[in-house]
Amino acid sequence: MPEDAHMQSTTDVFSALDSAPDGLSESEARNRRERHGENDITQGSKRAPLDIVVAQFDSALIWVLVAAAGLSLWAGHTVDAVLITVIVVVNGLFGFVQDYRAEETLESLRELTAPTATVRRDGQTVDIDATELVPGDVVELKSGDVVPADGRLIEGRSIEVDEAALTGESAPVSKGCEPVDTDAPLAERESMVYKGTNVTRGSGVAVLTATGMDTEVGAIARELAGTEETDTPLQEELDSLGRTLGIGVVILAALVIPLLLLRGTKLVQAGLTAISLAVAAVPEGLPAVVTLTLALGVRAMADENALVRRLPAVEALGSVDVICTDKTGTLTEGRMSVTRVWVNDAVVDLDVTGEESLSDRIAIVLRGGTLCSDATLDQGDPTEQAIVMAADKTGINVERLREENPRTDEIPFSSERKWMGTVHDDTVYIKGAPEVILSKCSHILTEDGPTDLTSDRAEEVREQVGTFADDALRVLAVAYTEDATVVERDDVTGDADDVSADLTLAGLVGMIDPARDEVADAIAATKRAGIDVKMVTGDNVRTAAAIAGELGLGQTVMEGRDVEHLSDEELGERVEAIDVFARTSPEHKVRILQALQANGHTVAMTGDGVNDAPALKNADVGVAMGIRGTDVAKQASDVILLDDNYTTIERAVERGRAIFDNIWKFVAYLLSANIAEVAIVFLASLFGYLVLPAVQLLWINLLTDGLPALALGADPQSGDVMERPPRDPDRGIVDGRMLGLVGGAGAVSTVVMLGLLFYLLRGAPAITPYAMTMVFTGFVALEFEKLYVIRWLRETPTFSNPWLALAVGVSLVLQLAVLYTPLNQYFGTVPLGLADWILIGTVLTVALPGYLAVVSAIKRYIPIAAATGTSPR
Ligand code: ATP
Repeated sequence: MPEDAHMQSTTDVFSALDSAPDGLSESEARNRRERHGENDITQGSKRAPLDIVVAQFDSALIWVLVAAAGLSLWAGHTVDAVLITVIVVVNGLFGFVQDYRAEETLESLRELTAPTATVRRDGQTVDIDATELVPGDVVELKSGDVVPADGRLIEGRSIEVDEAALTGESAPVSKGCEPVDTDAPLAERESMVYKGTNVTRGSGVAVLTATGMDTEVGAIARELAGTEETDTPLQEELDSLGRTLGIGVVILAALVIPLLLLRGTKLVQAGLTAISLAVAAVPEGLPAVVTLTLALGVRAMADENALVRRLPAVEALGSVDVICTDKTGTLTEGRMSVTRVWVNDAVVDLDVTGEESLSDRIAIVLRGGTLCSDATLDQGDPTEQAIVMAADKTGINVERLREENPRTDEIPFSSERKWMGTVHDDTVYIKGAPEVILSKCSHILTEDGPTDLTSDRAEEVREQVGTFADDALRVLAVAYTEDATVVERDDVTGDADDVSADLTLAGLVGMIDPARDEVADAIAATKRAGIDVKMVTGDNVRTAAAIAGELGLGQTVMEGRDVEHLSDEELGERVEAIDVFARTSPEHKVRILQALQANGHTVAMTGDGVNDAPALKNADVGVAMGIRGTDVAKQASDVILLDDNYTTIERAVERGRAIFDNIWKFVAYLLSANIAEVAIVFLASLFGYLVLPAVQLLWINLLTDGLPALALGADPQSGDVMERPPRDPDRGIVDGRMLGLVGGAGAVSTVVMLGLLFYLLRGAPAITPYAMTMVFTGFVALEFEKLYVIRWLRETPTFSNPWLALAVGVSLVLQLAVLYTPLNQYFGTVPLGLADWILIGTVLTVALPGYLAVVSAIKRYIPIAAATGTSPR
């Protein structure tokens, strides 16, 4: 591998790599792949199975349990100690399996979003998965690509690369093919491109010098291996909840032991009670259930065309209260066709007109537009493709035109510039946003040839643009000159980057880009869900407003340049009321985003270009386009829309809310069980009874509660999920309603269970195995009842989840197994008779009105925690 490729001539680099400008053969590439492995950064992205195992035991709660096992051993309860240990291990395995599956799911999604690379193989140019690249491959790079591996440039056309990820240098660096003859540091090796950096401008070709872990980023990844933490805010909140519970338990146990000793309880029994309390307070199965639910949700979103790249985005989606969306291709179909062309004094309707009546001047517009485009009839930017297709339709032979007028230089399109230019020997064509093109014209093409473009004339042109735009047409102007000296160059790089204001306006093209059929409904649904929708587009004000009108969006428009003129405070005040931001550049997007976030909103923002990366990174949910989006935009995003369609955002938000709902349900379910367990154990101990010993509690927490909790994660969404306001992201999951439910339902369970206990014992001095079995089984049965009550609180249809029925069924069988099989000796249980089951049925009947009262009180008195931002109009 040529270490000093940056210093060598391209010929030397090729011979060192045993490659050639037309690339490697497929068989040679295969051989090399065997030697060099995949072009992938392995460390850091995926956790090793052993790490996942270790992580299962890295929790305060587990240590509470281990301490409980030790105490049991000390108290002479060897069986308990062994069972606790077994259950800790089973819990670890359960957690491992869930975590591992979640990891696999995320990994397979990551692979789906892996960038492709354009490579020359067997003399052909093909697109392949970037992981298949090998040293010696010749890859083509263009603006918007992420460089797939380290390489030496062999061709470059105004190519600039943003290497901030590698060197920290935030300004893009110009690259070239000349060897760098000093032993330059990485940041100054202009002849090299590095994996993971972004091509922001121009295009080029590079021969790869290193792939995968041998690249410069590979070296960094090796140093940082495994440091990336992927916990979501929710998981962190639950972790800290777990820690708080752990500490609470230790304190409670420390208080209970002396209290019981003072009341004359034996030390062993006091110790066992403390152990039970510890076990009771800990929701053992919770972390695993959360992880799996998030992962399954991500999988379901992928099936609906939304690829989640970062897990925390799932939660953020649920609390989004403003969506800022692109217009072209997202709200509209992005399939454009030119319907009208305007020249000085005439409009031609292309749908009606045939080739015969096409005037020379119209032909100049379409020819110029075609030469100044990169698209072909089959592929390319839709705006350009529309022009090329119109040219073809009117009888212009596009291929021949391009052959006869080869391009000698270009000024590439960018969203900031809003135009592009190409040079064909002496002739220069430019096309782009009409107001910008007009500012570069001194003449206008008329019947009599180019004439002065007076300010009156210019005003007439603007009016014409407005007329097209009001019909929702996207308008581009085309201008030309036969004097290539108008091209101005960058002082430093020498690249063409502007033209002097001396061109001749040839005319305007108006193209339709119809709104997508389904979007108007999706926007209405989003608004019902309390989410404000704002269109942020590079397009003309009137075109944007016309489309917004068709889609049922408001009509309050602000232009990008006004965004620039406002201070942060002013923008913050006005941003709420604006429905459409037109003629915006990527940096306007960042300011709009910051203004909304400063006002307390959770913002989802879409983007596709290289320059959208900052907005996508900073948005609460950065949404990149899967079809139109550049690799750079995709890498910066949290979610990728495979179909570029606005409707998919709306559905992802809905999913995000539903996932959060389900997590809410099982957290509430498990915590209310824990609180009741603690209360029952504690209160019974004051009367000298040890109910619910540690093994029984572990059994409840892991199996009879664990399975239904898992099934709750798969609950279908409730009907009102998009009819209520977004969730306040700062309130976390343990909100007022959850506290109400945990406290209320916990109290009902406690009262009913203690009632049963005292009824059975009727003042007996010590607890009997029978009474213990009744409380144990009664508690499990109560849990099943409470499960459905919680689902009513969240408006989930009762019989909508077959998994839940299955989970309850399996849990019931497991419970019967510990009553009626020899297992019962380990759990301290005895078989129950029919009368006992009838008694348990009675207990359930008594508890039901209690639970229902709690639910209706919560519905009545505890409002849903809604987002704090200014609510949409
Ligand atoms: P959106 O931001 O909703 O995707 P957009 O496509 O109009 O809308 P940009 O791609 O930033 O946004 O384009 C801004 C403007 O630049 C367009 O309105 C158009 O006038 C002009 N333009 C777009 N594409 C080209 C192109 N290929 N060549 C020249 N000008 C273009």
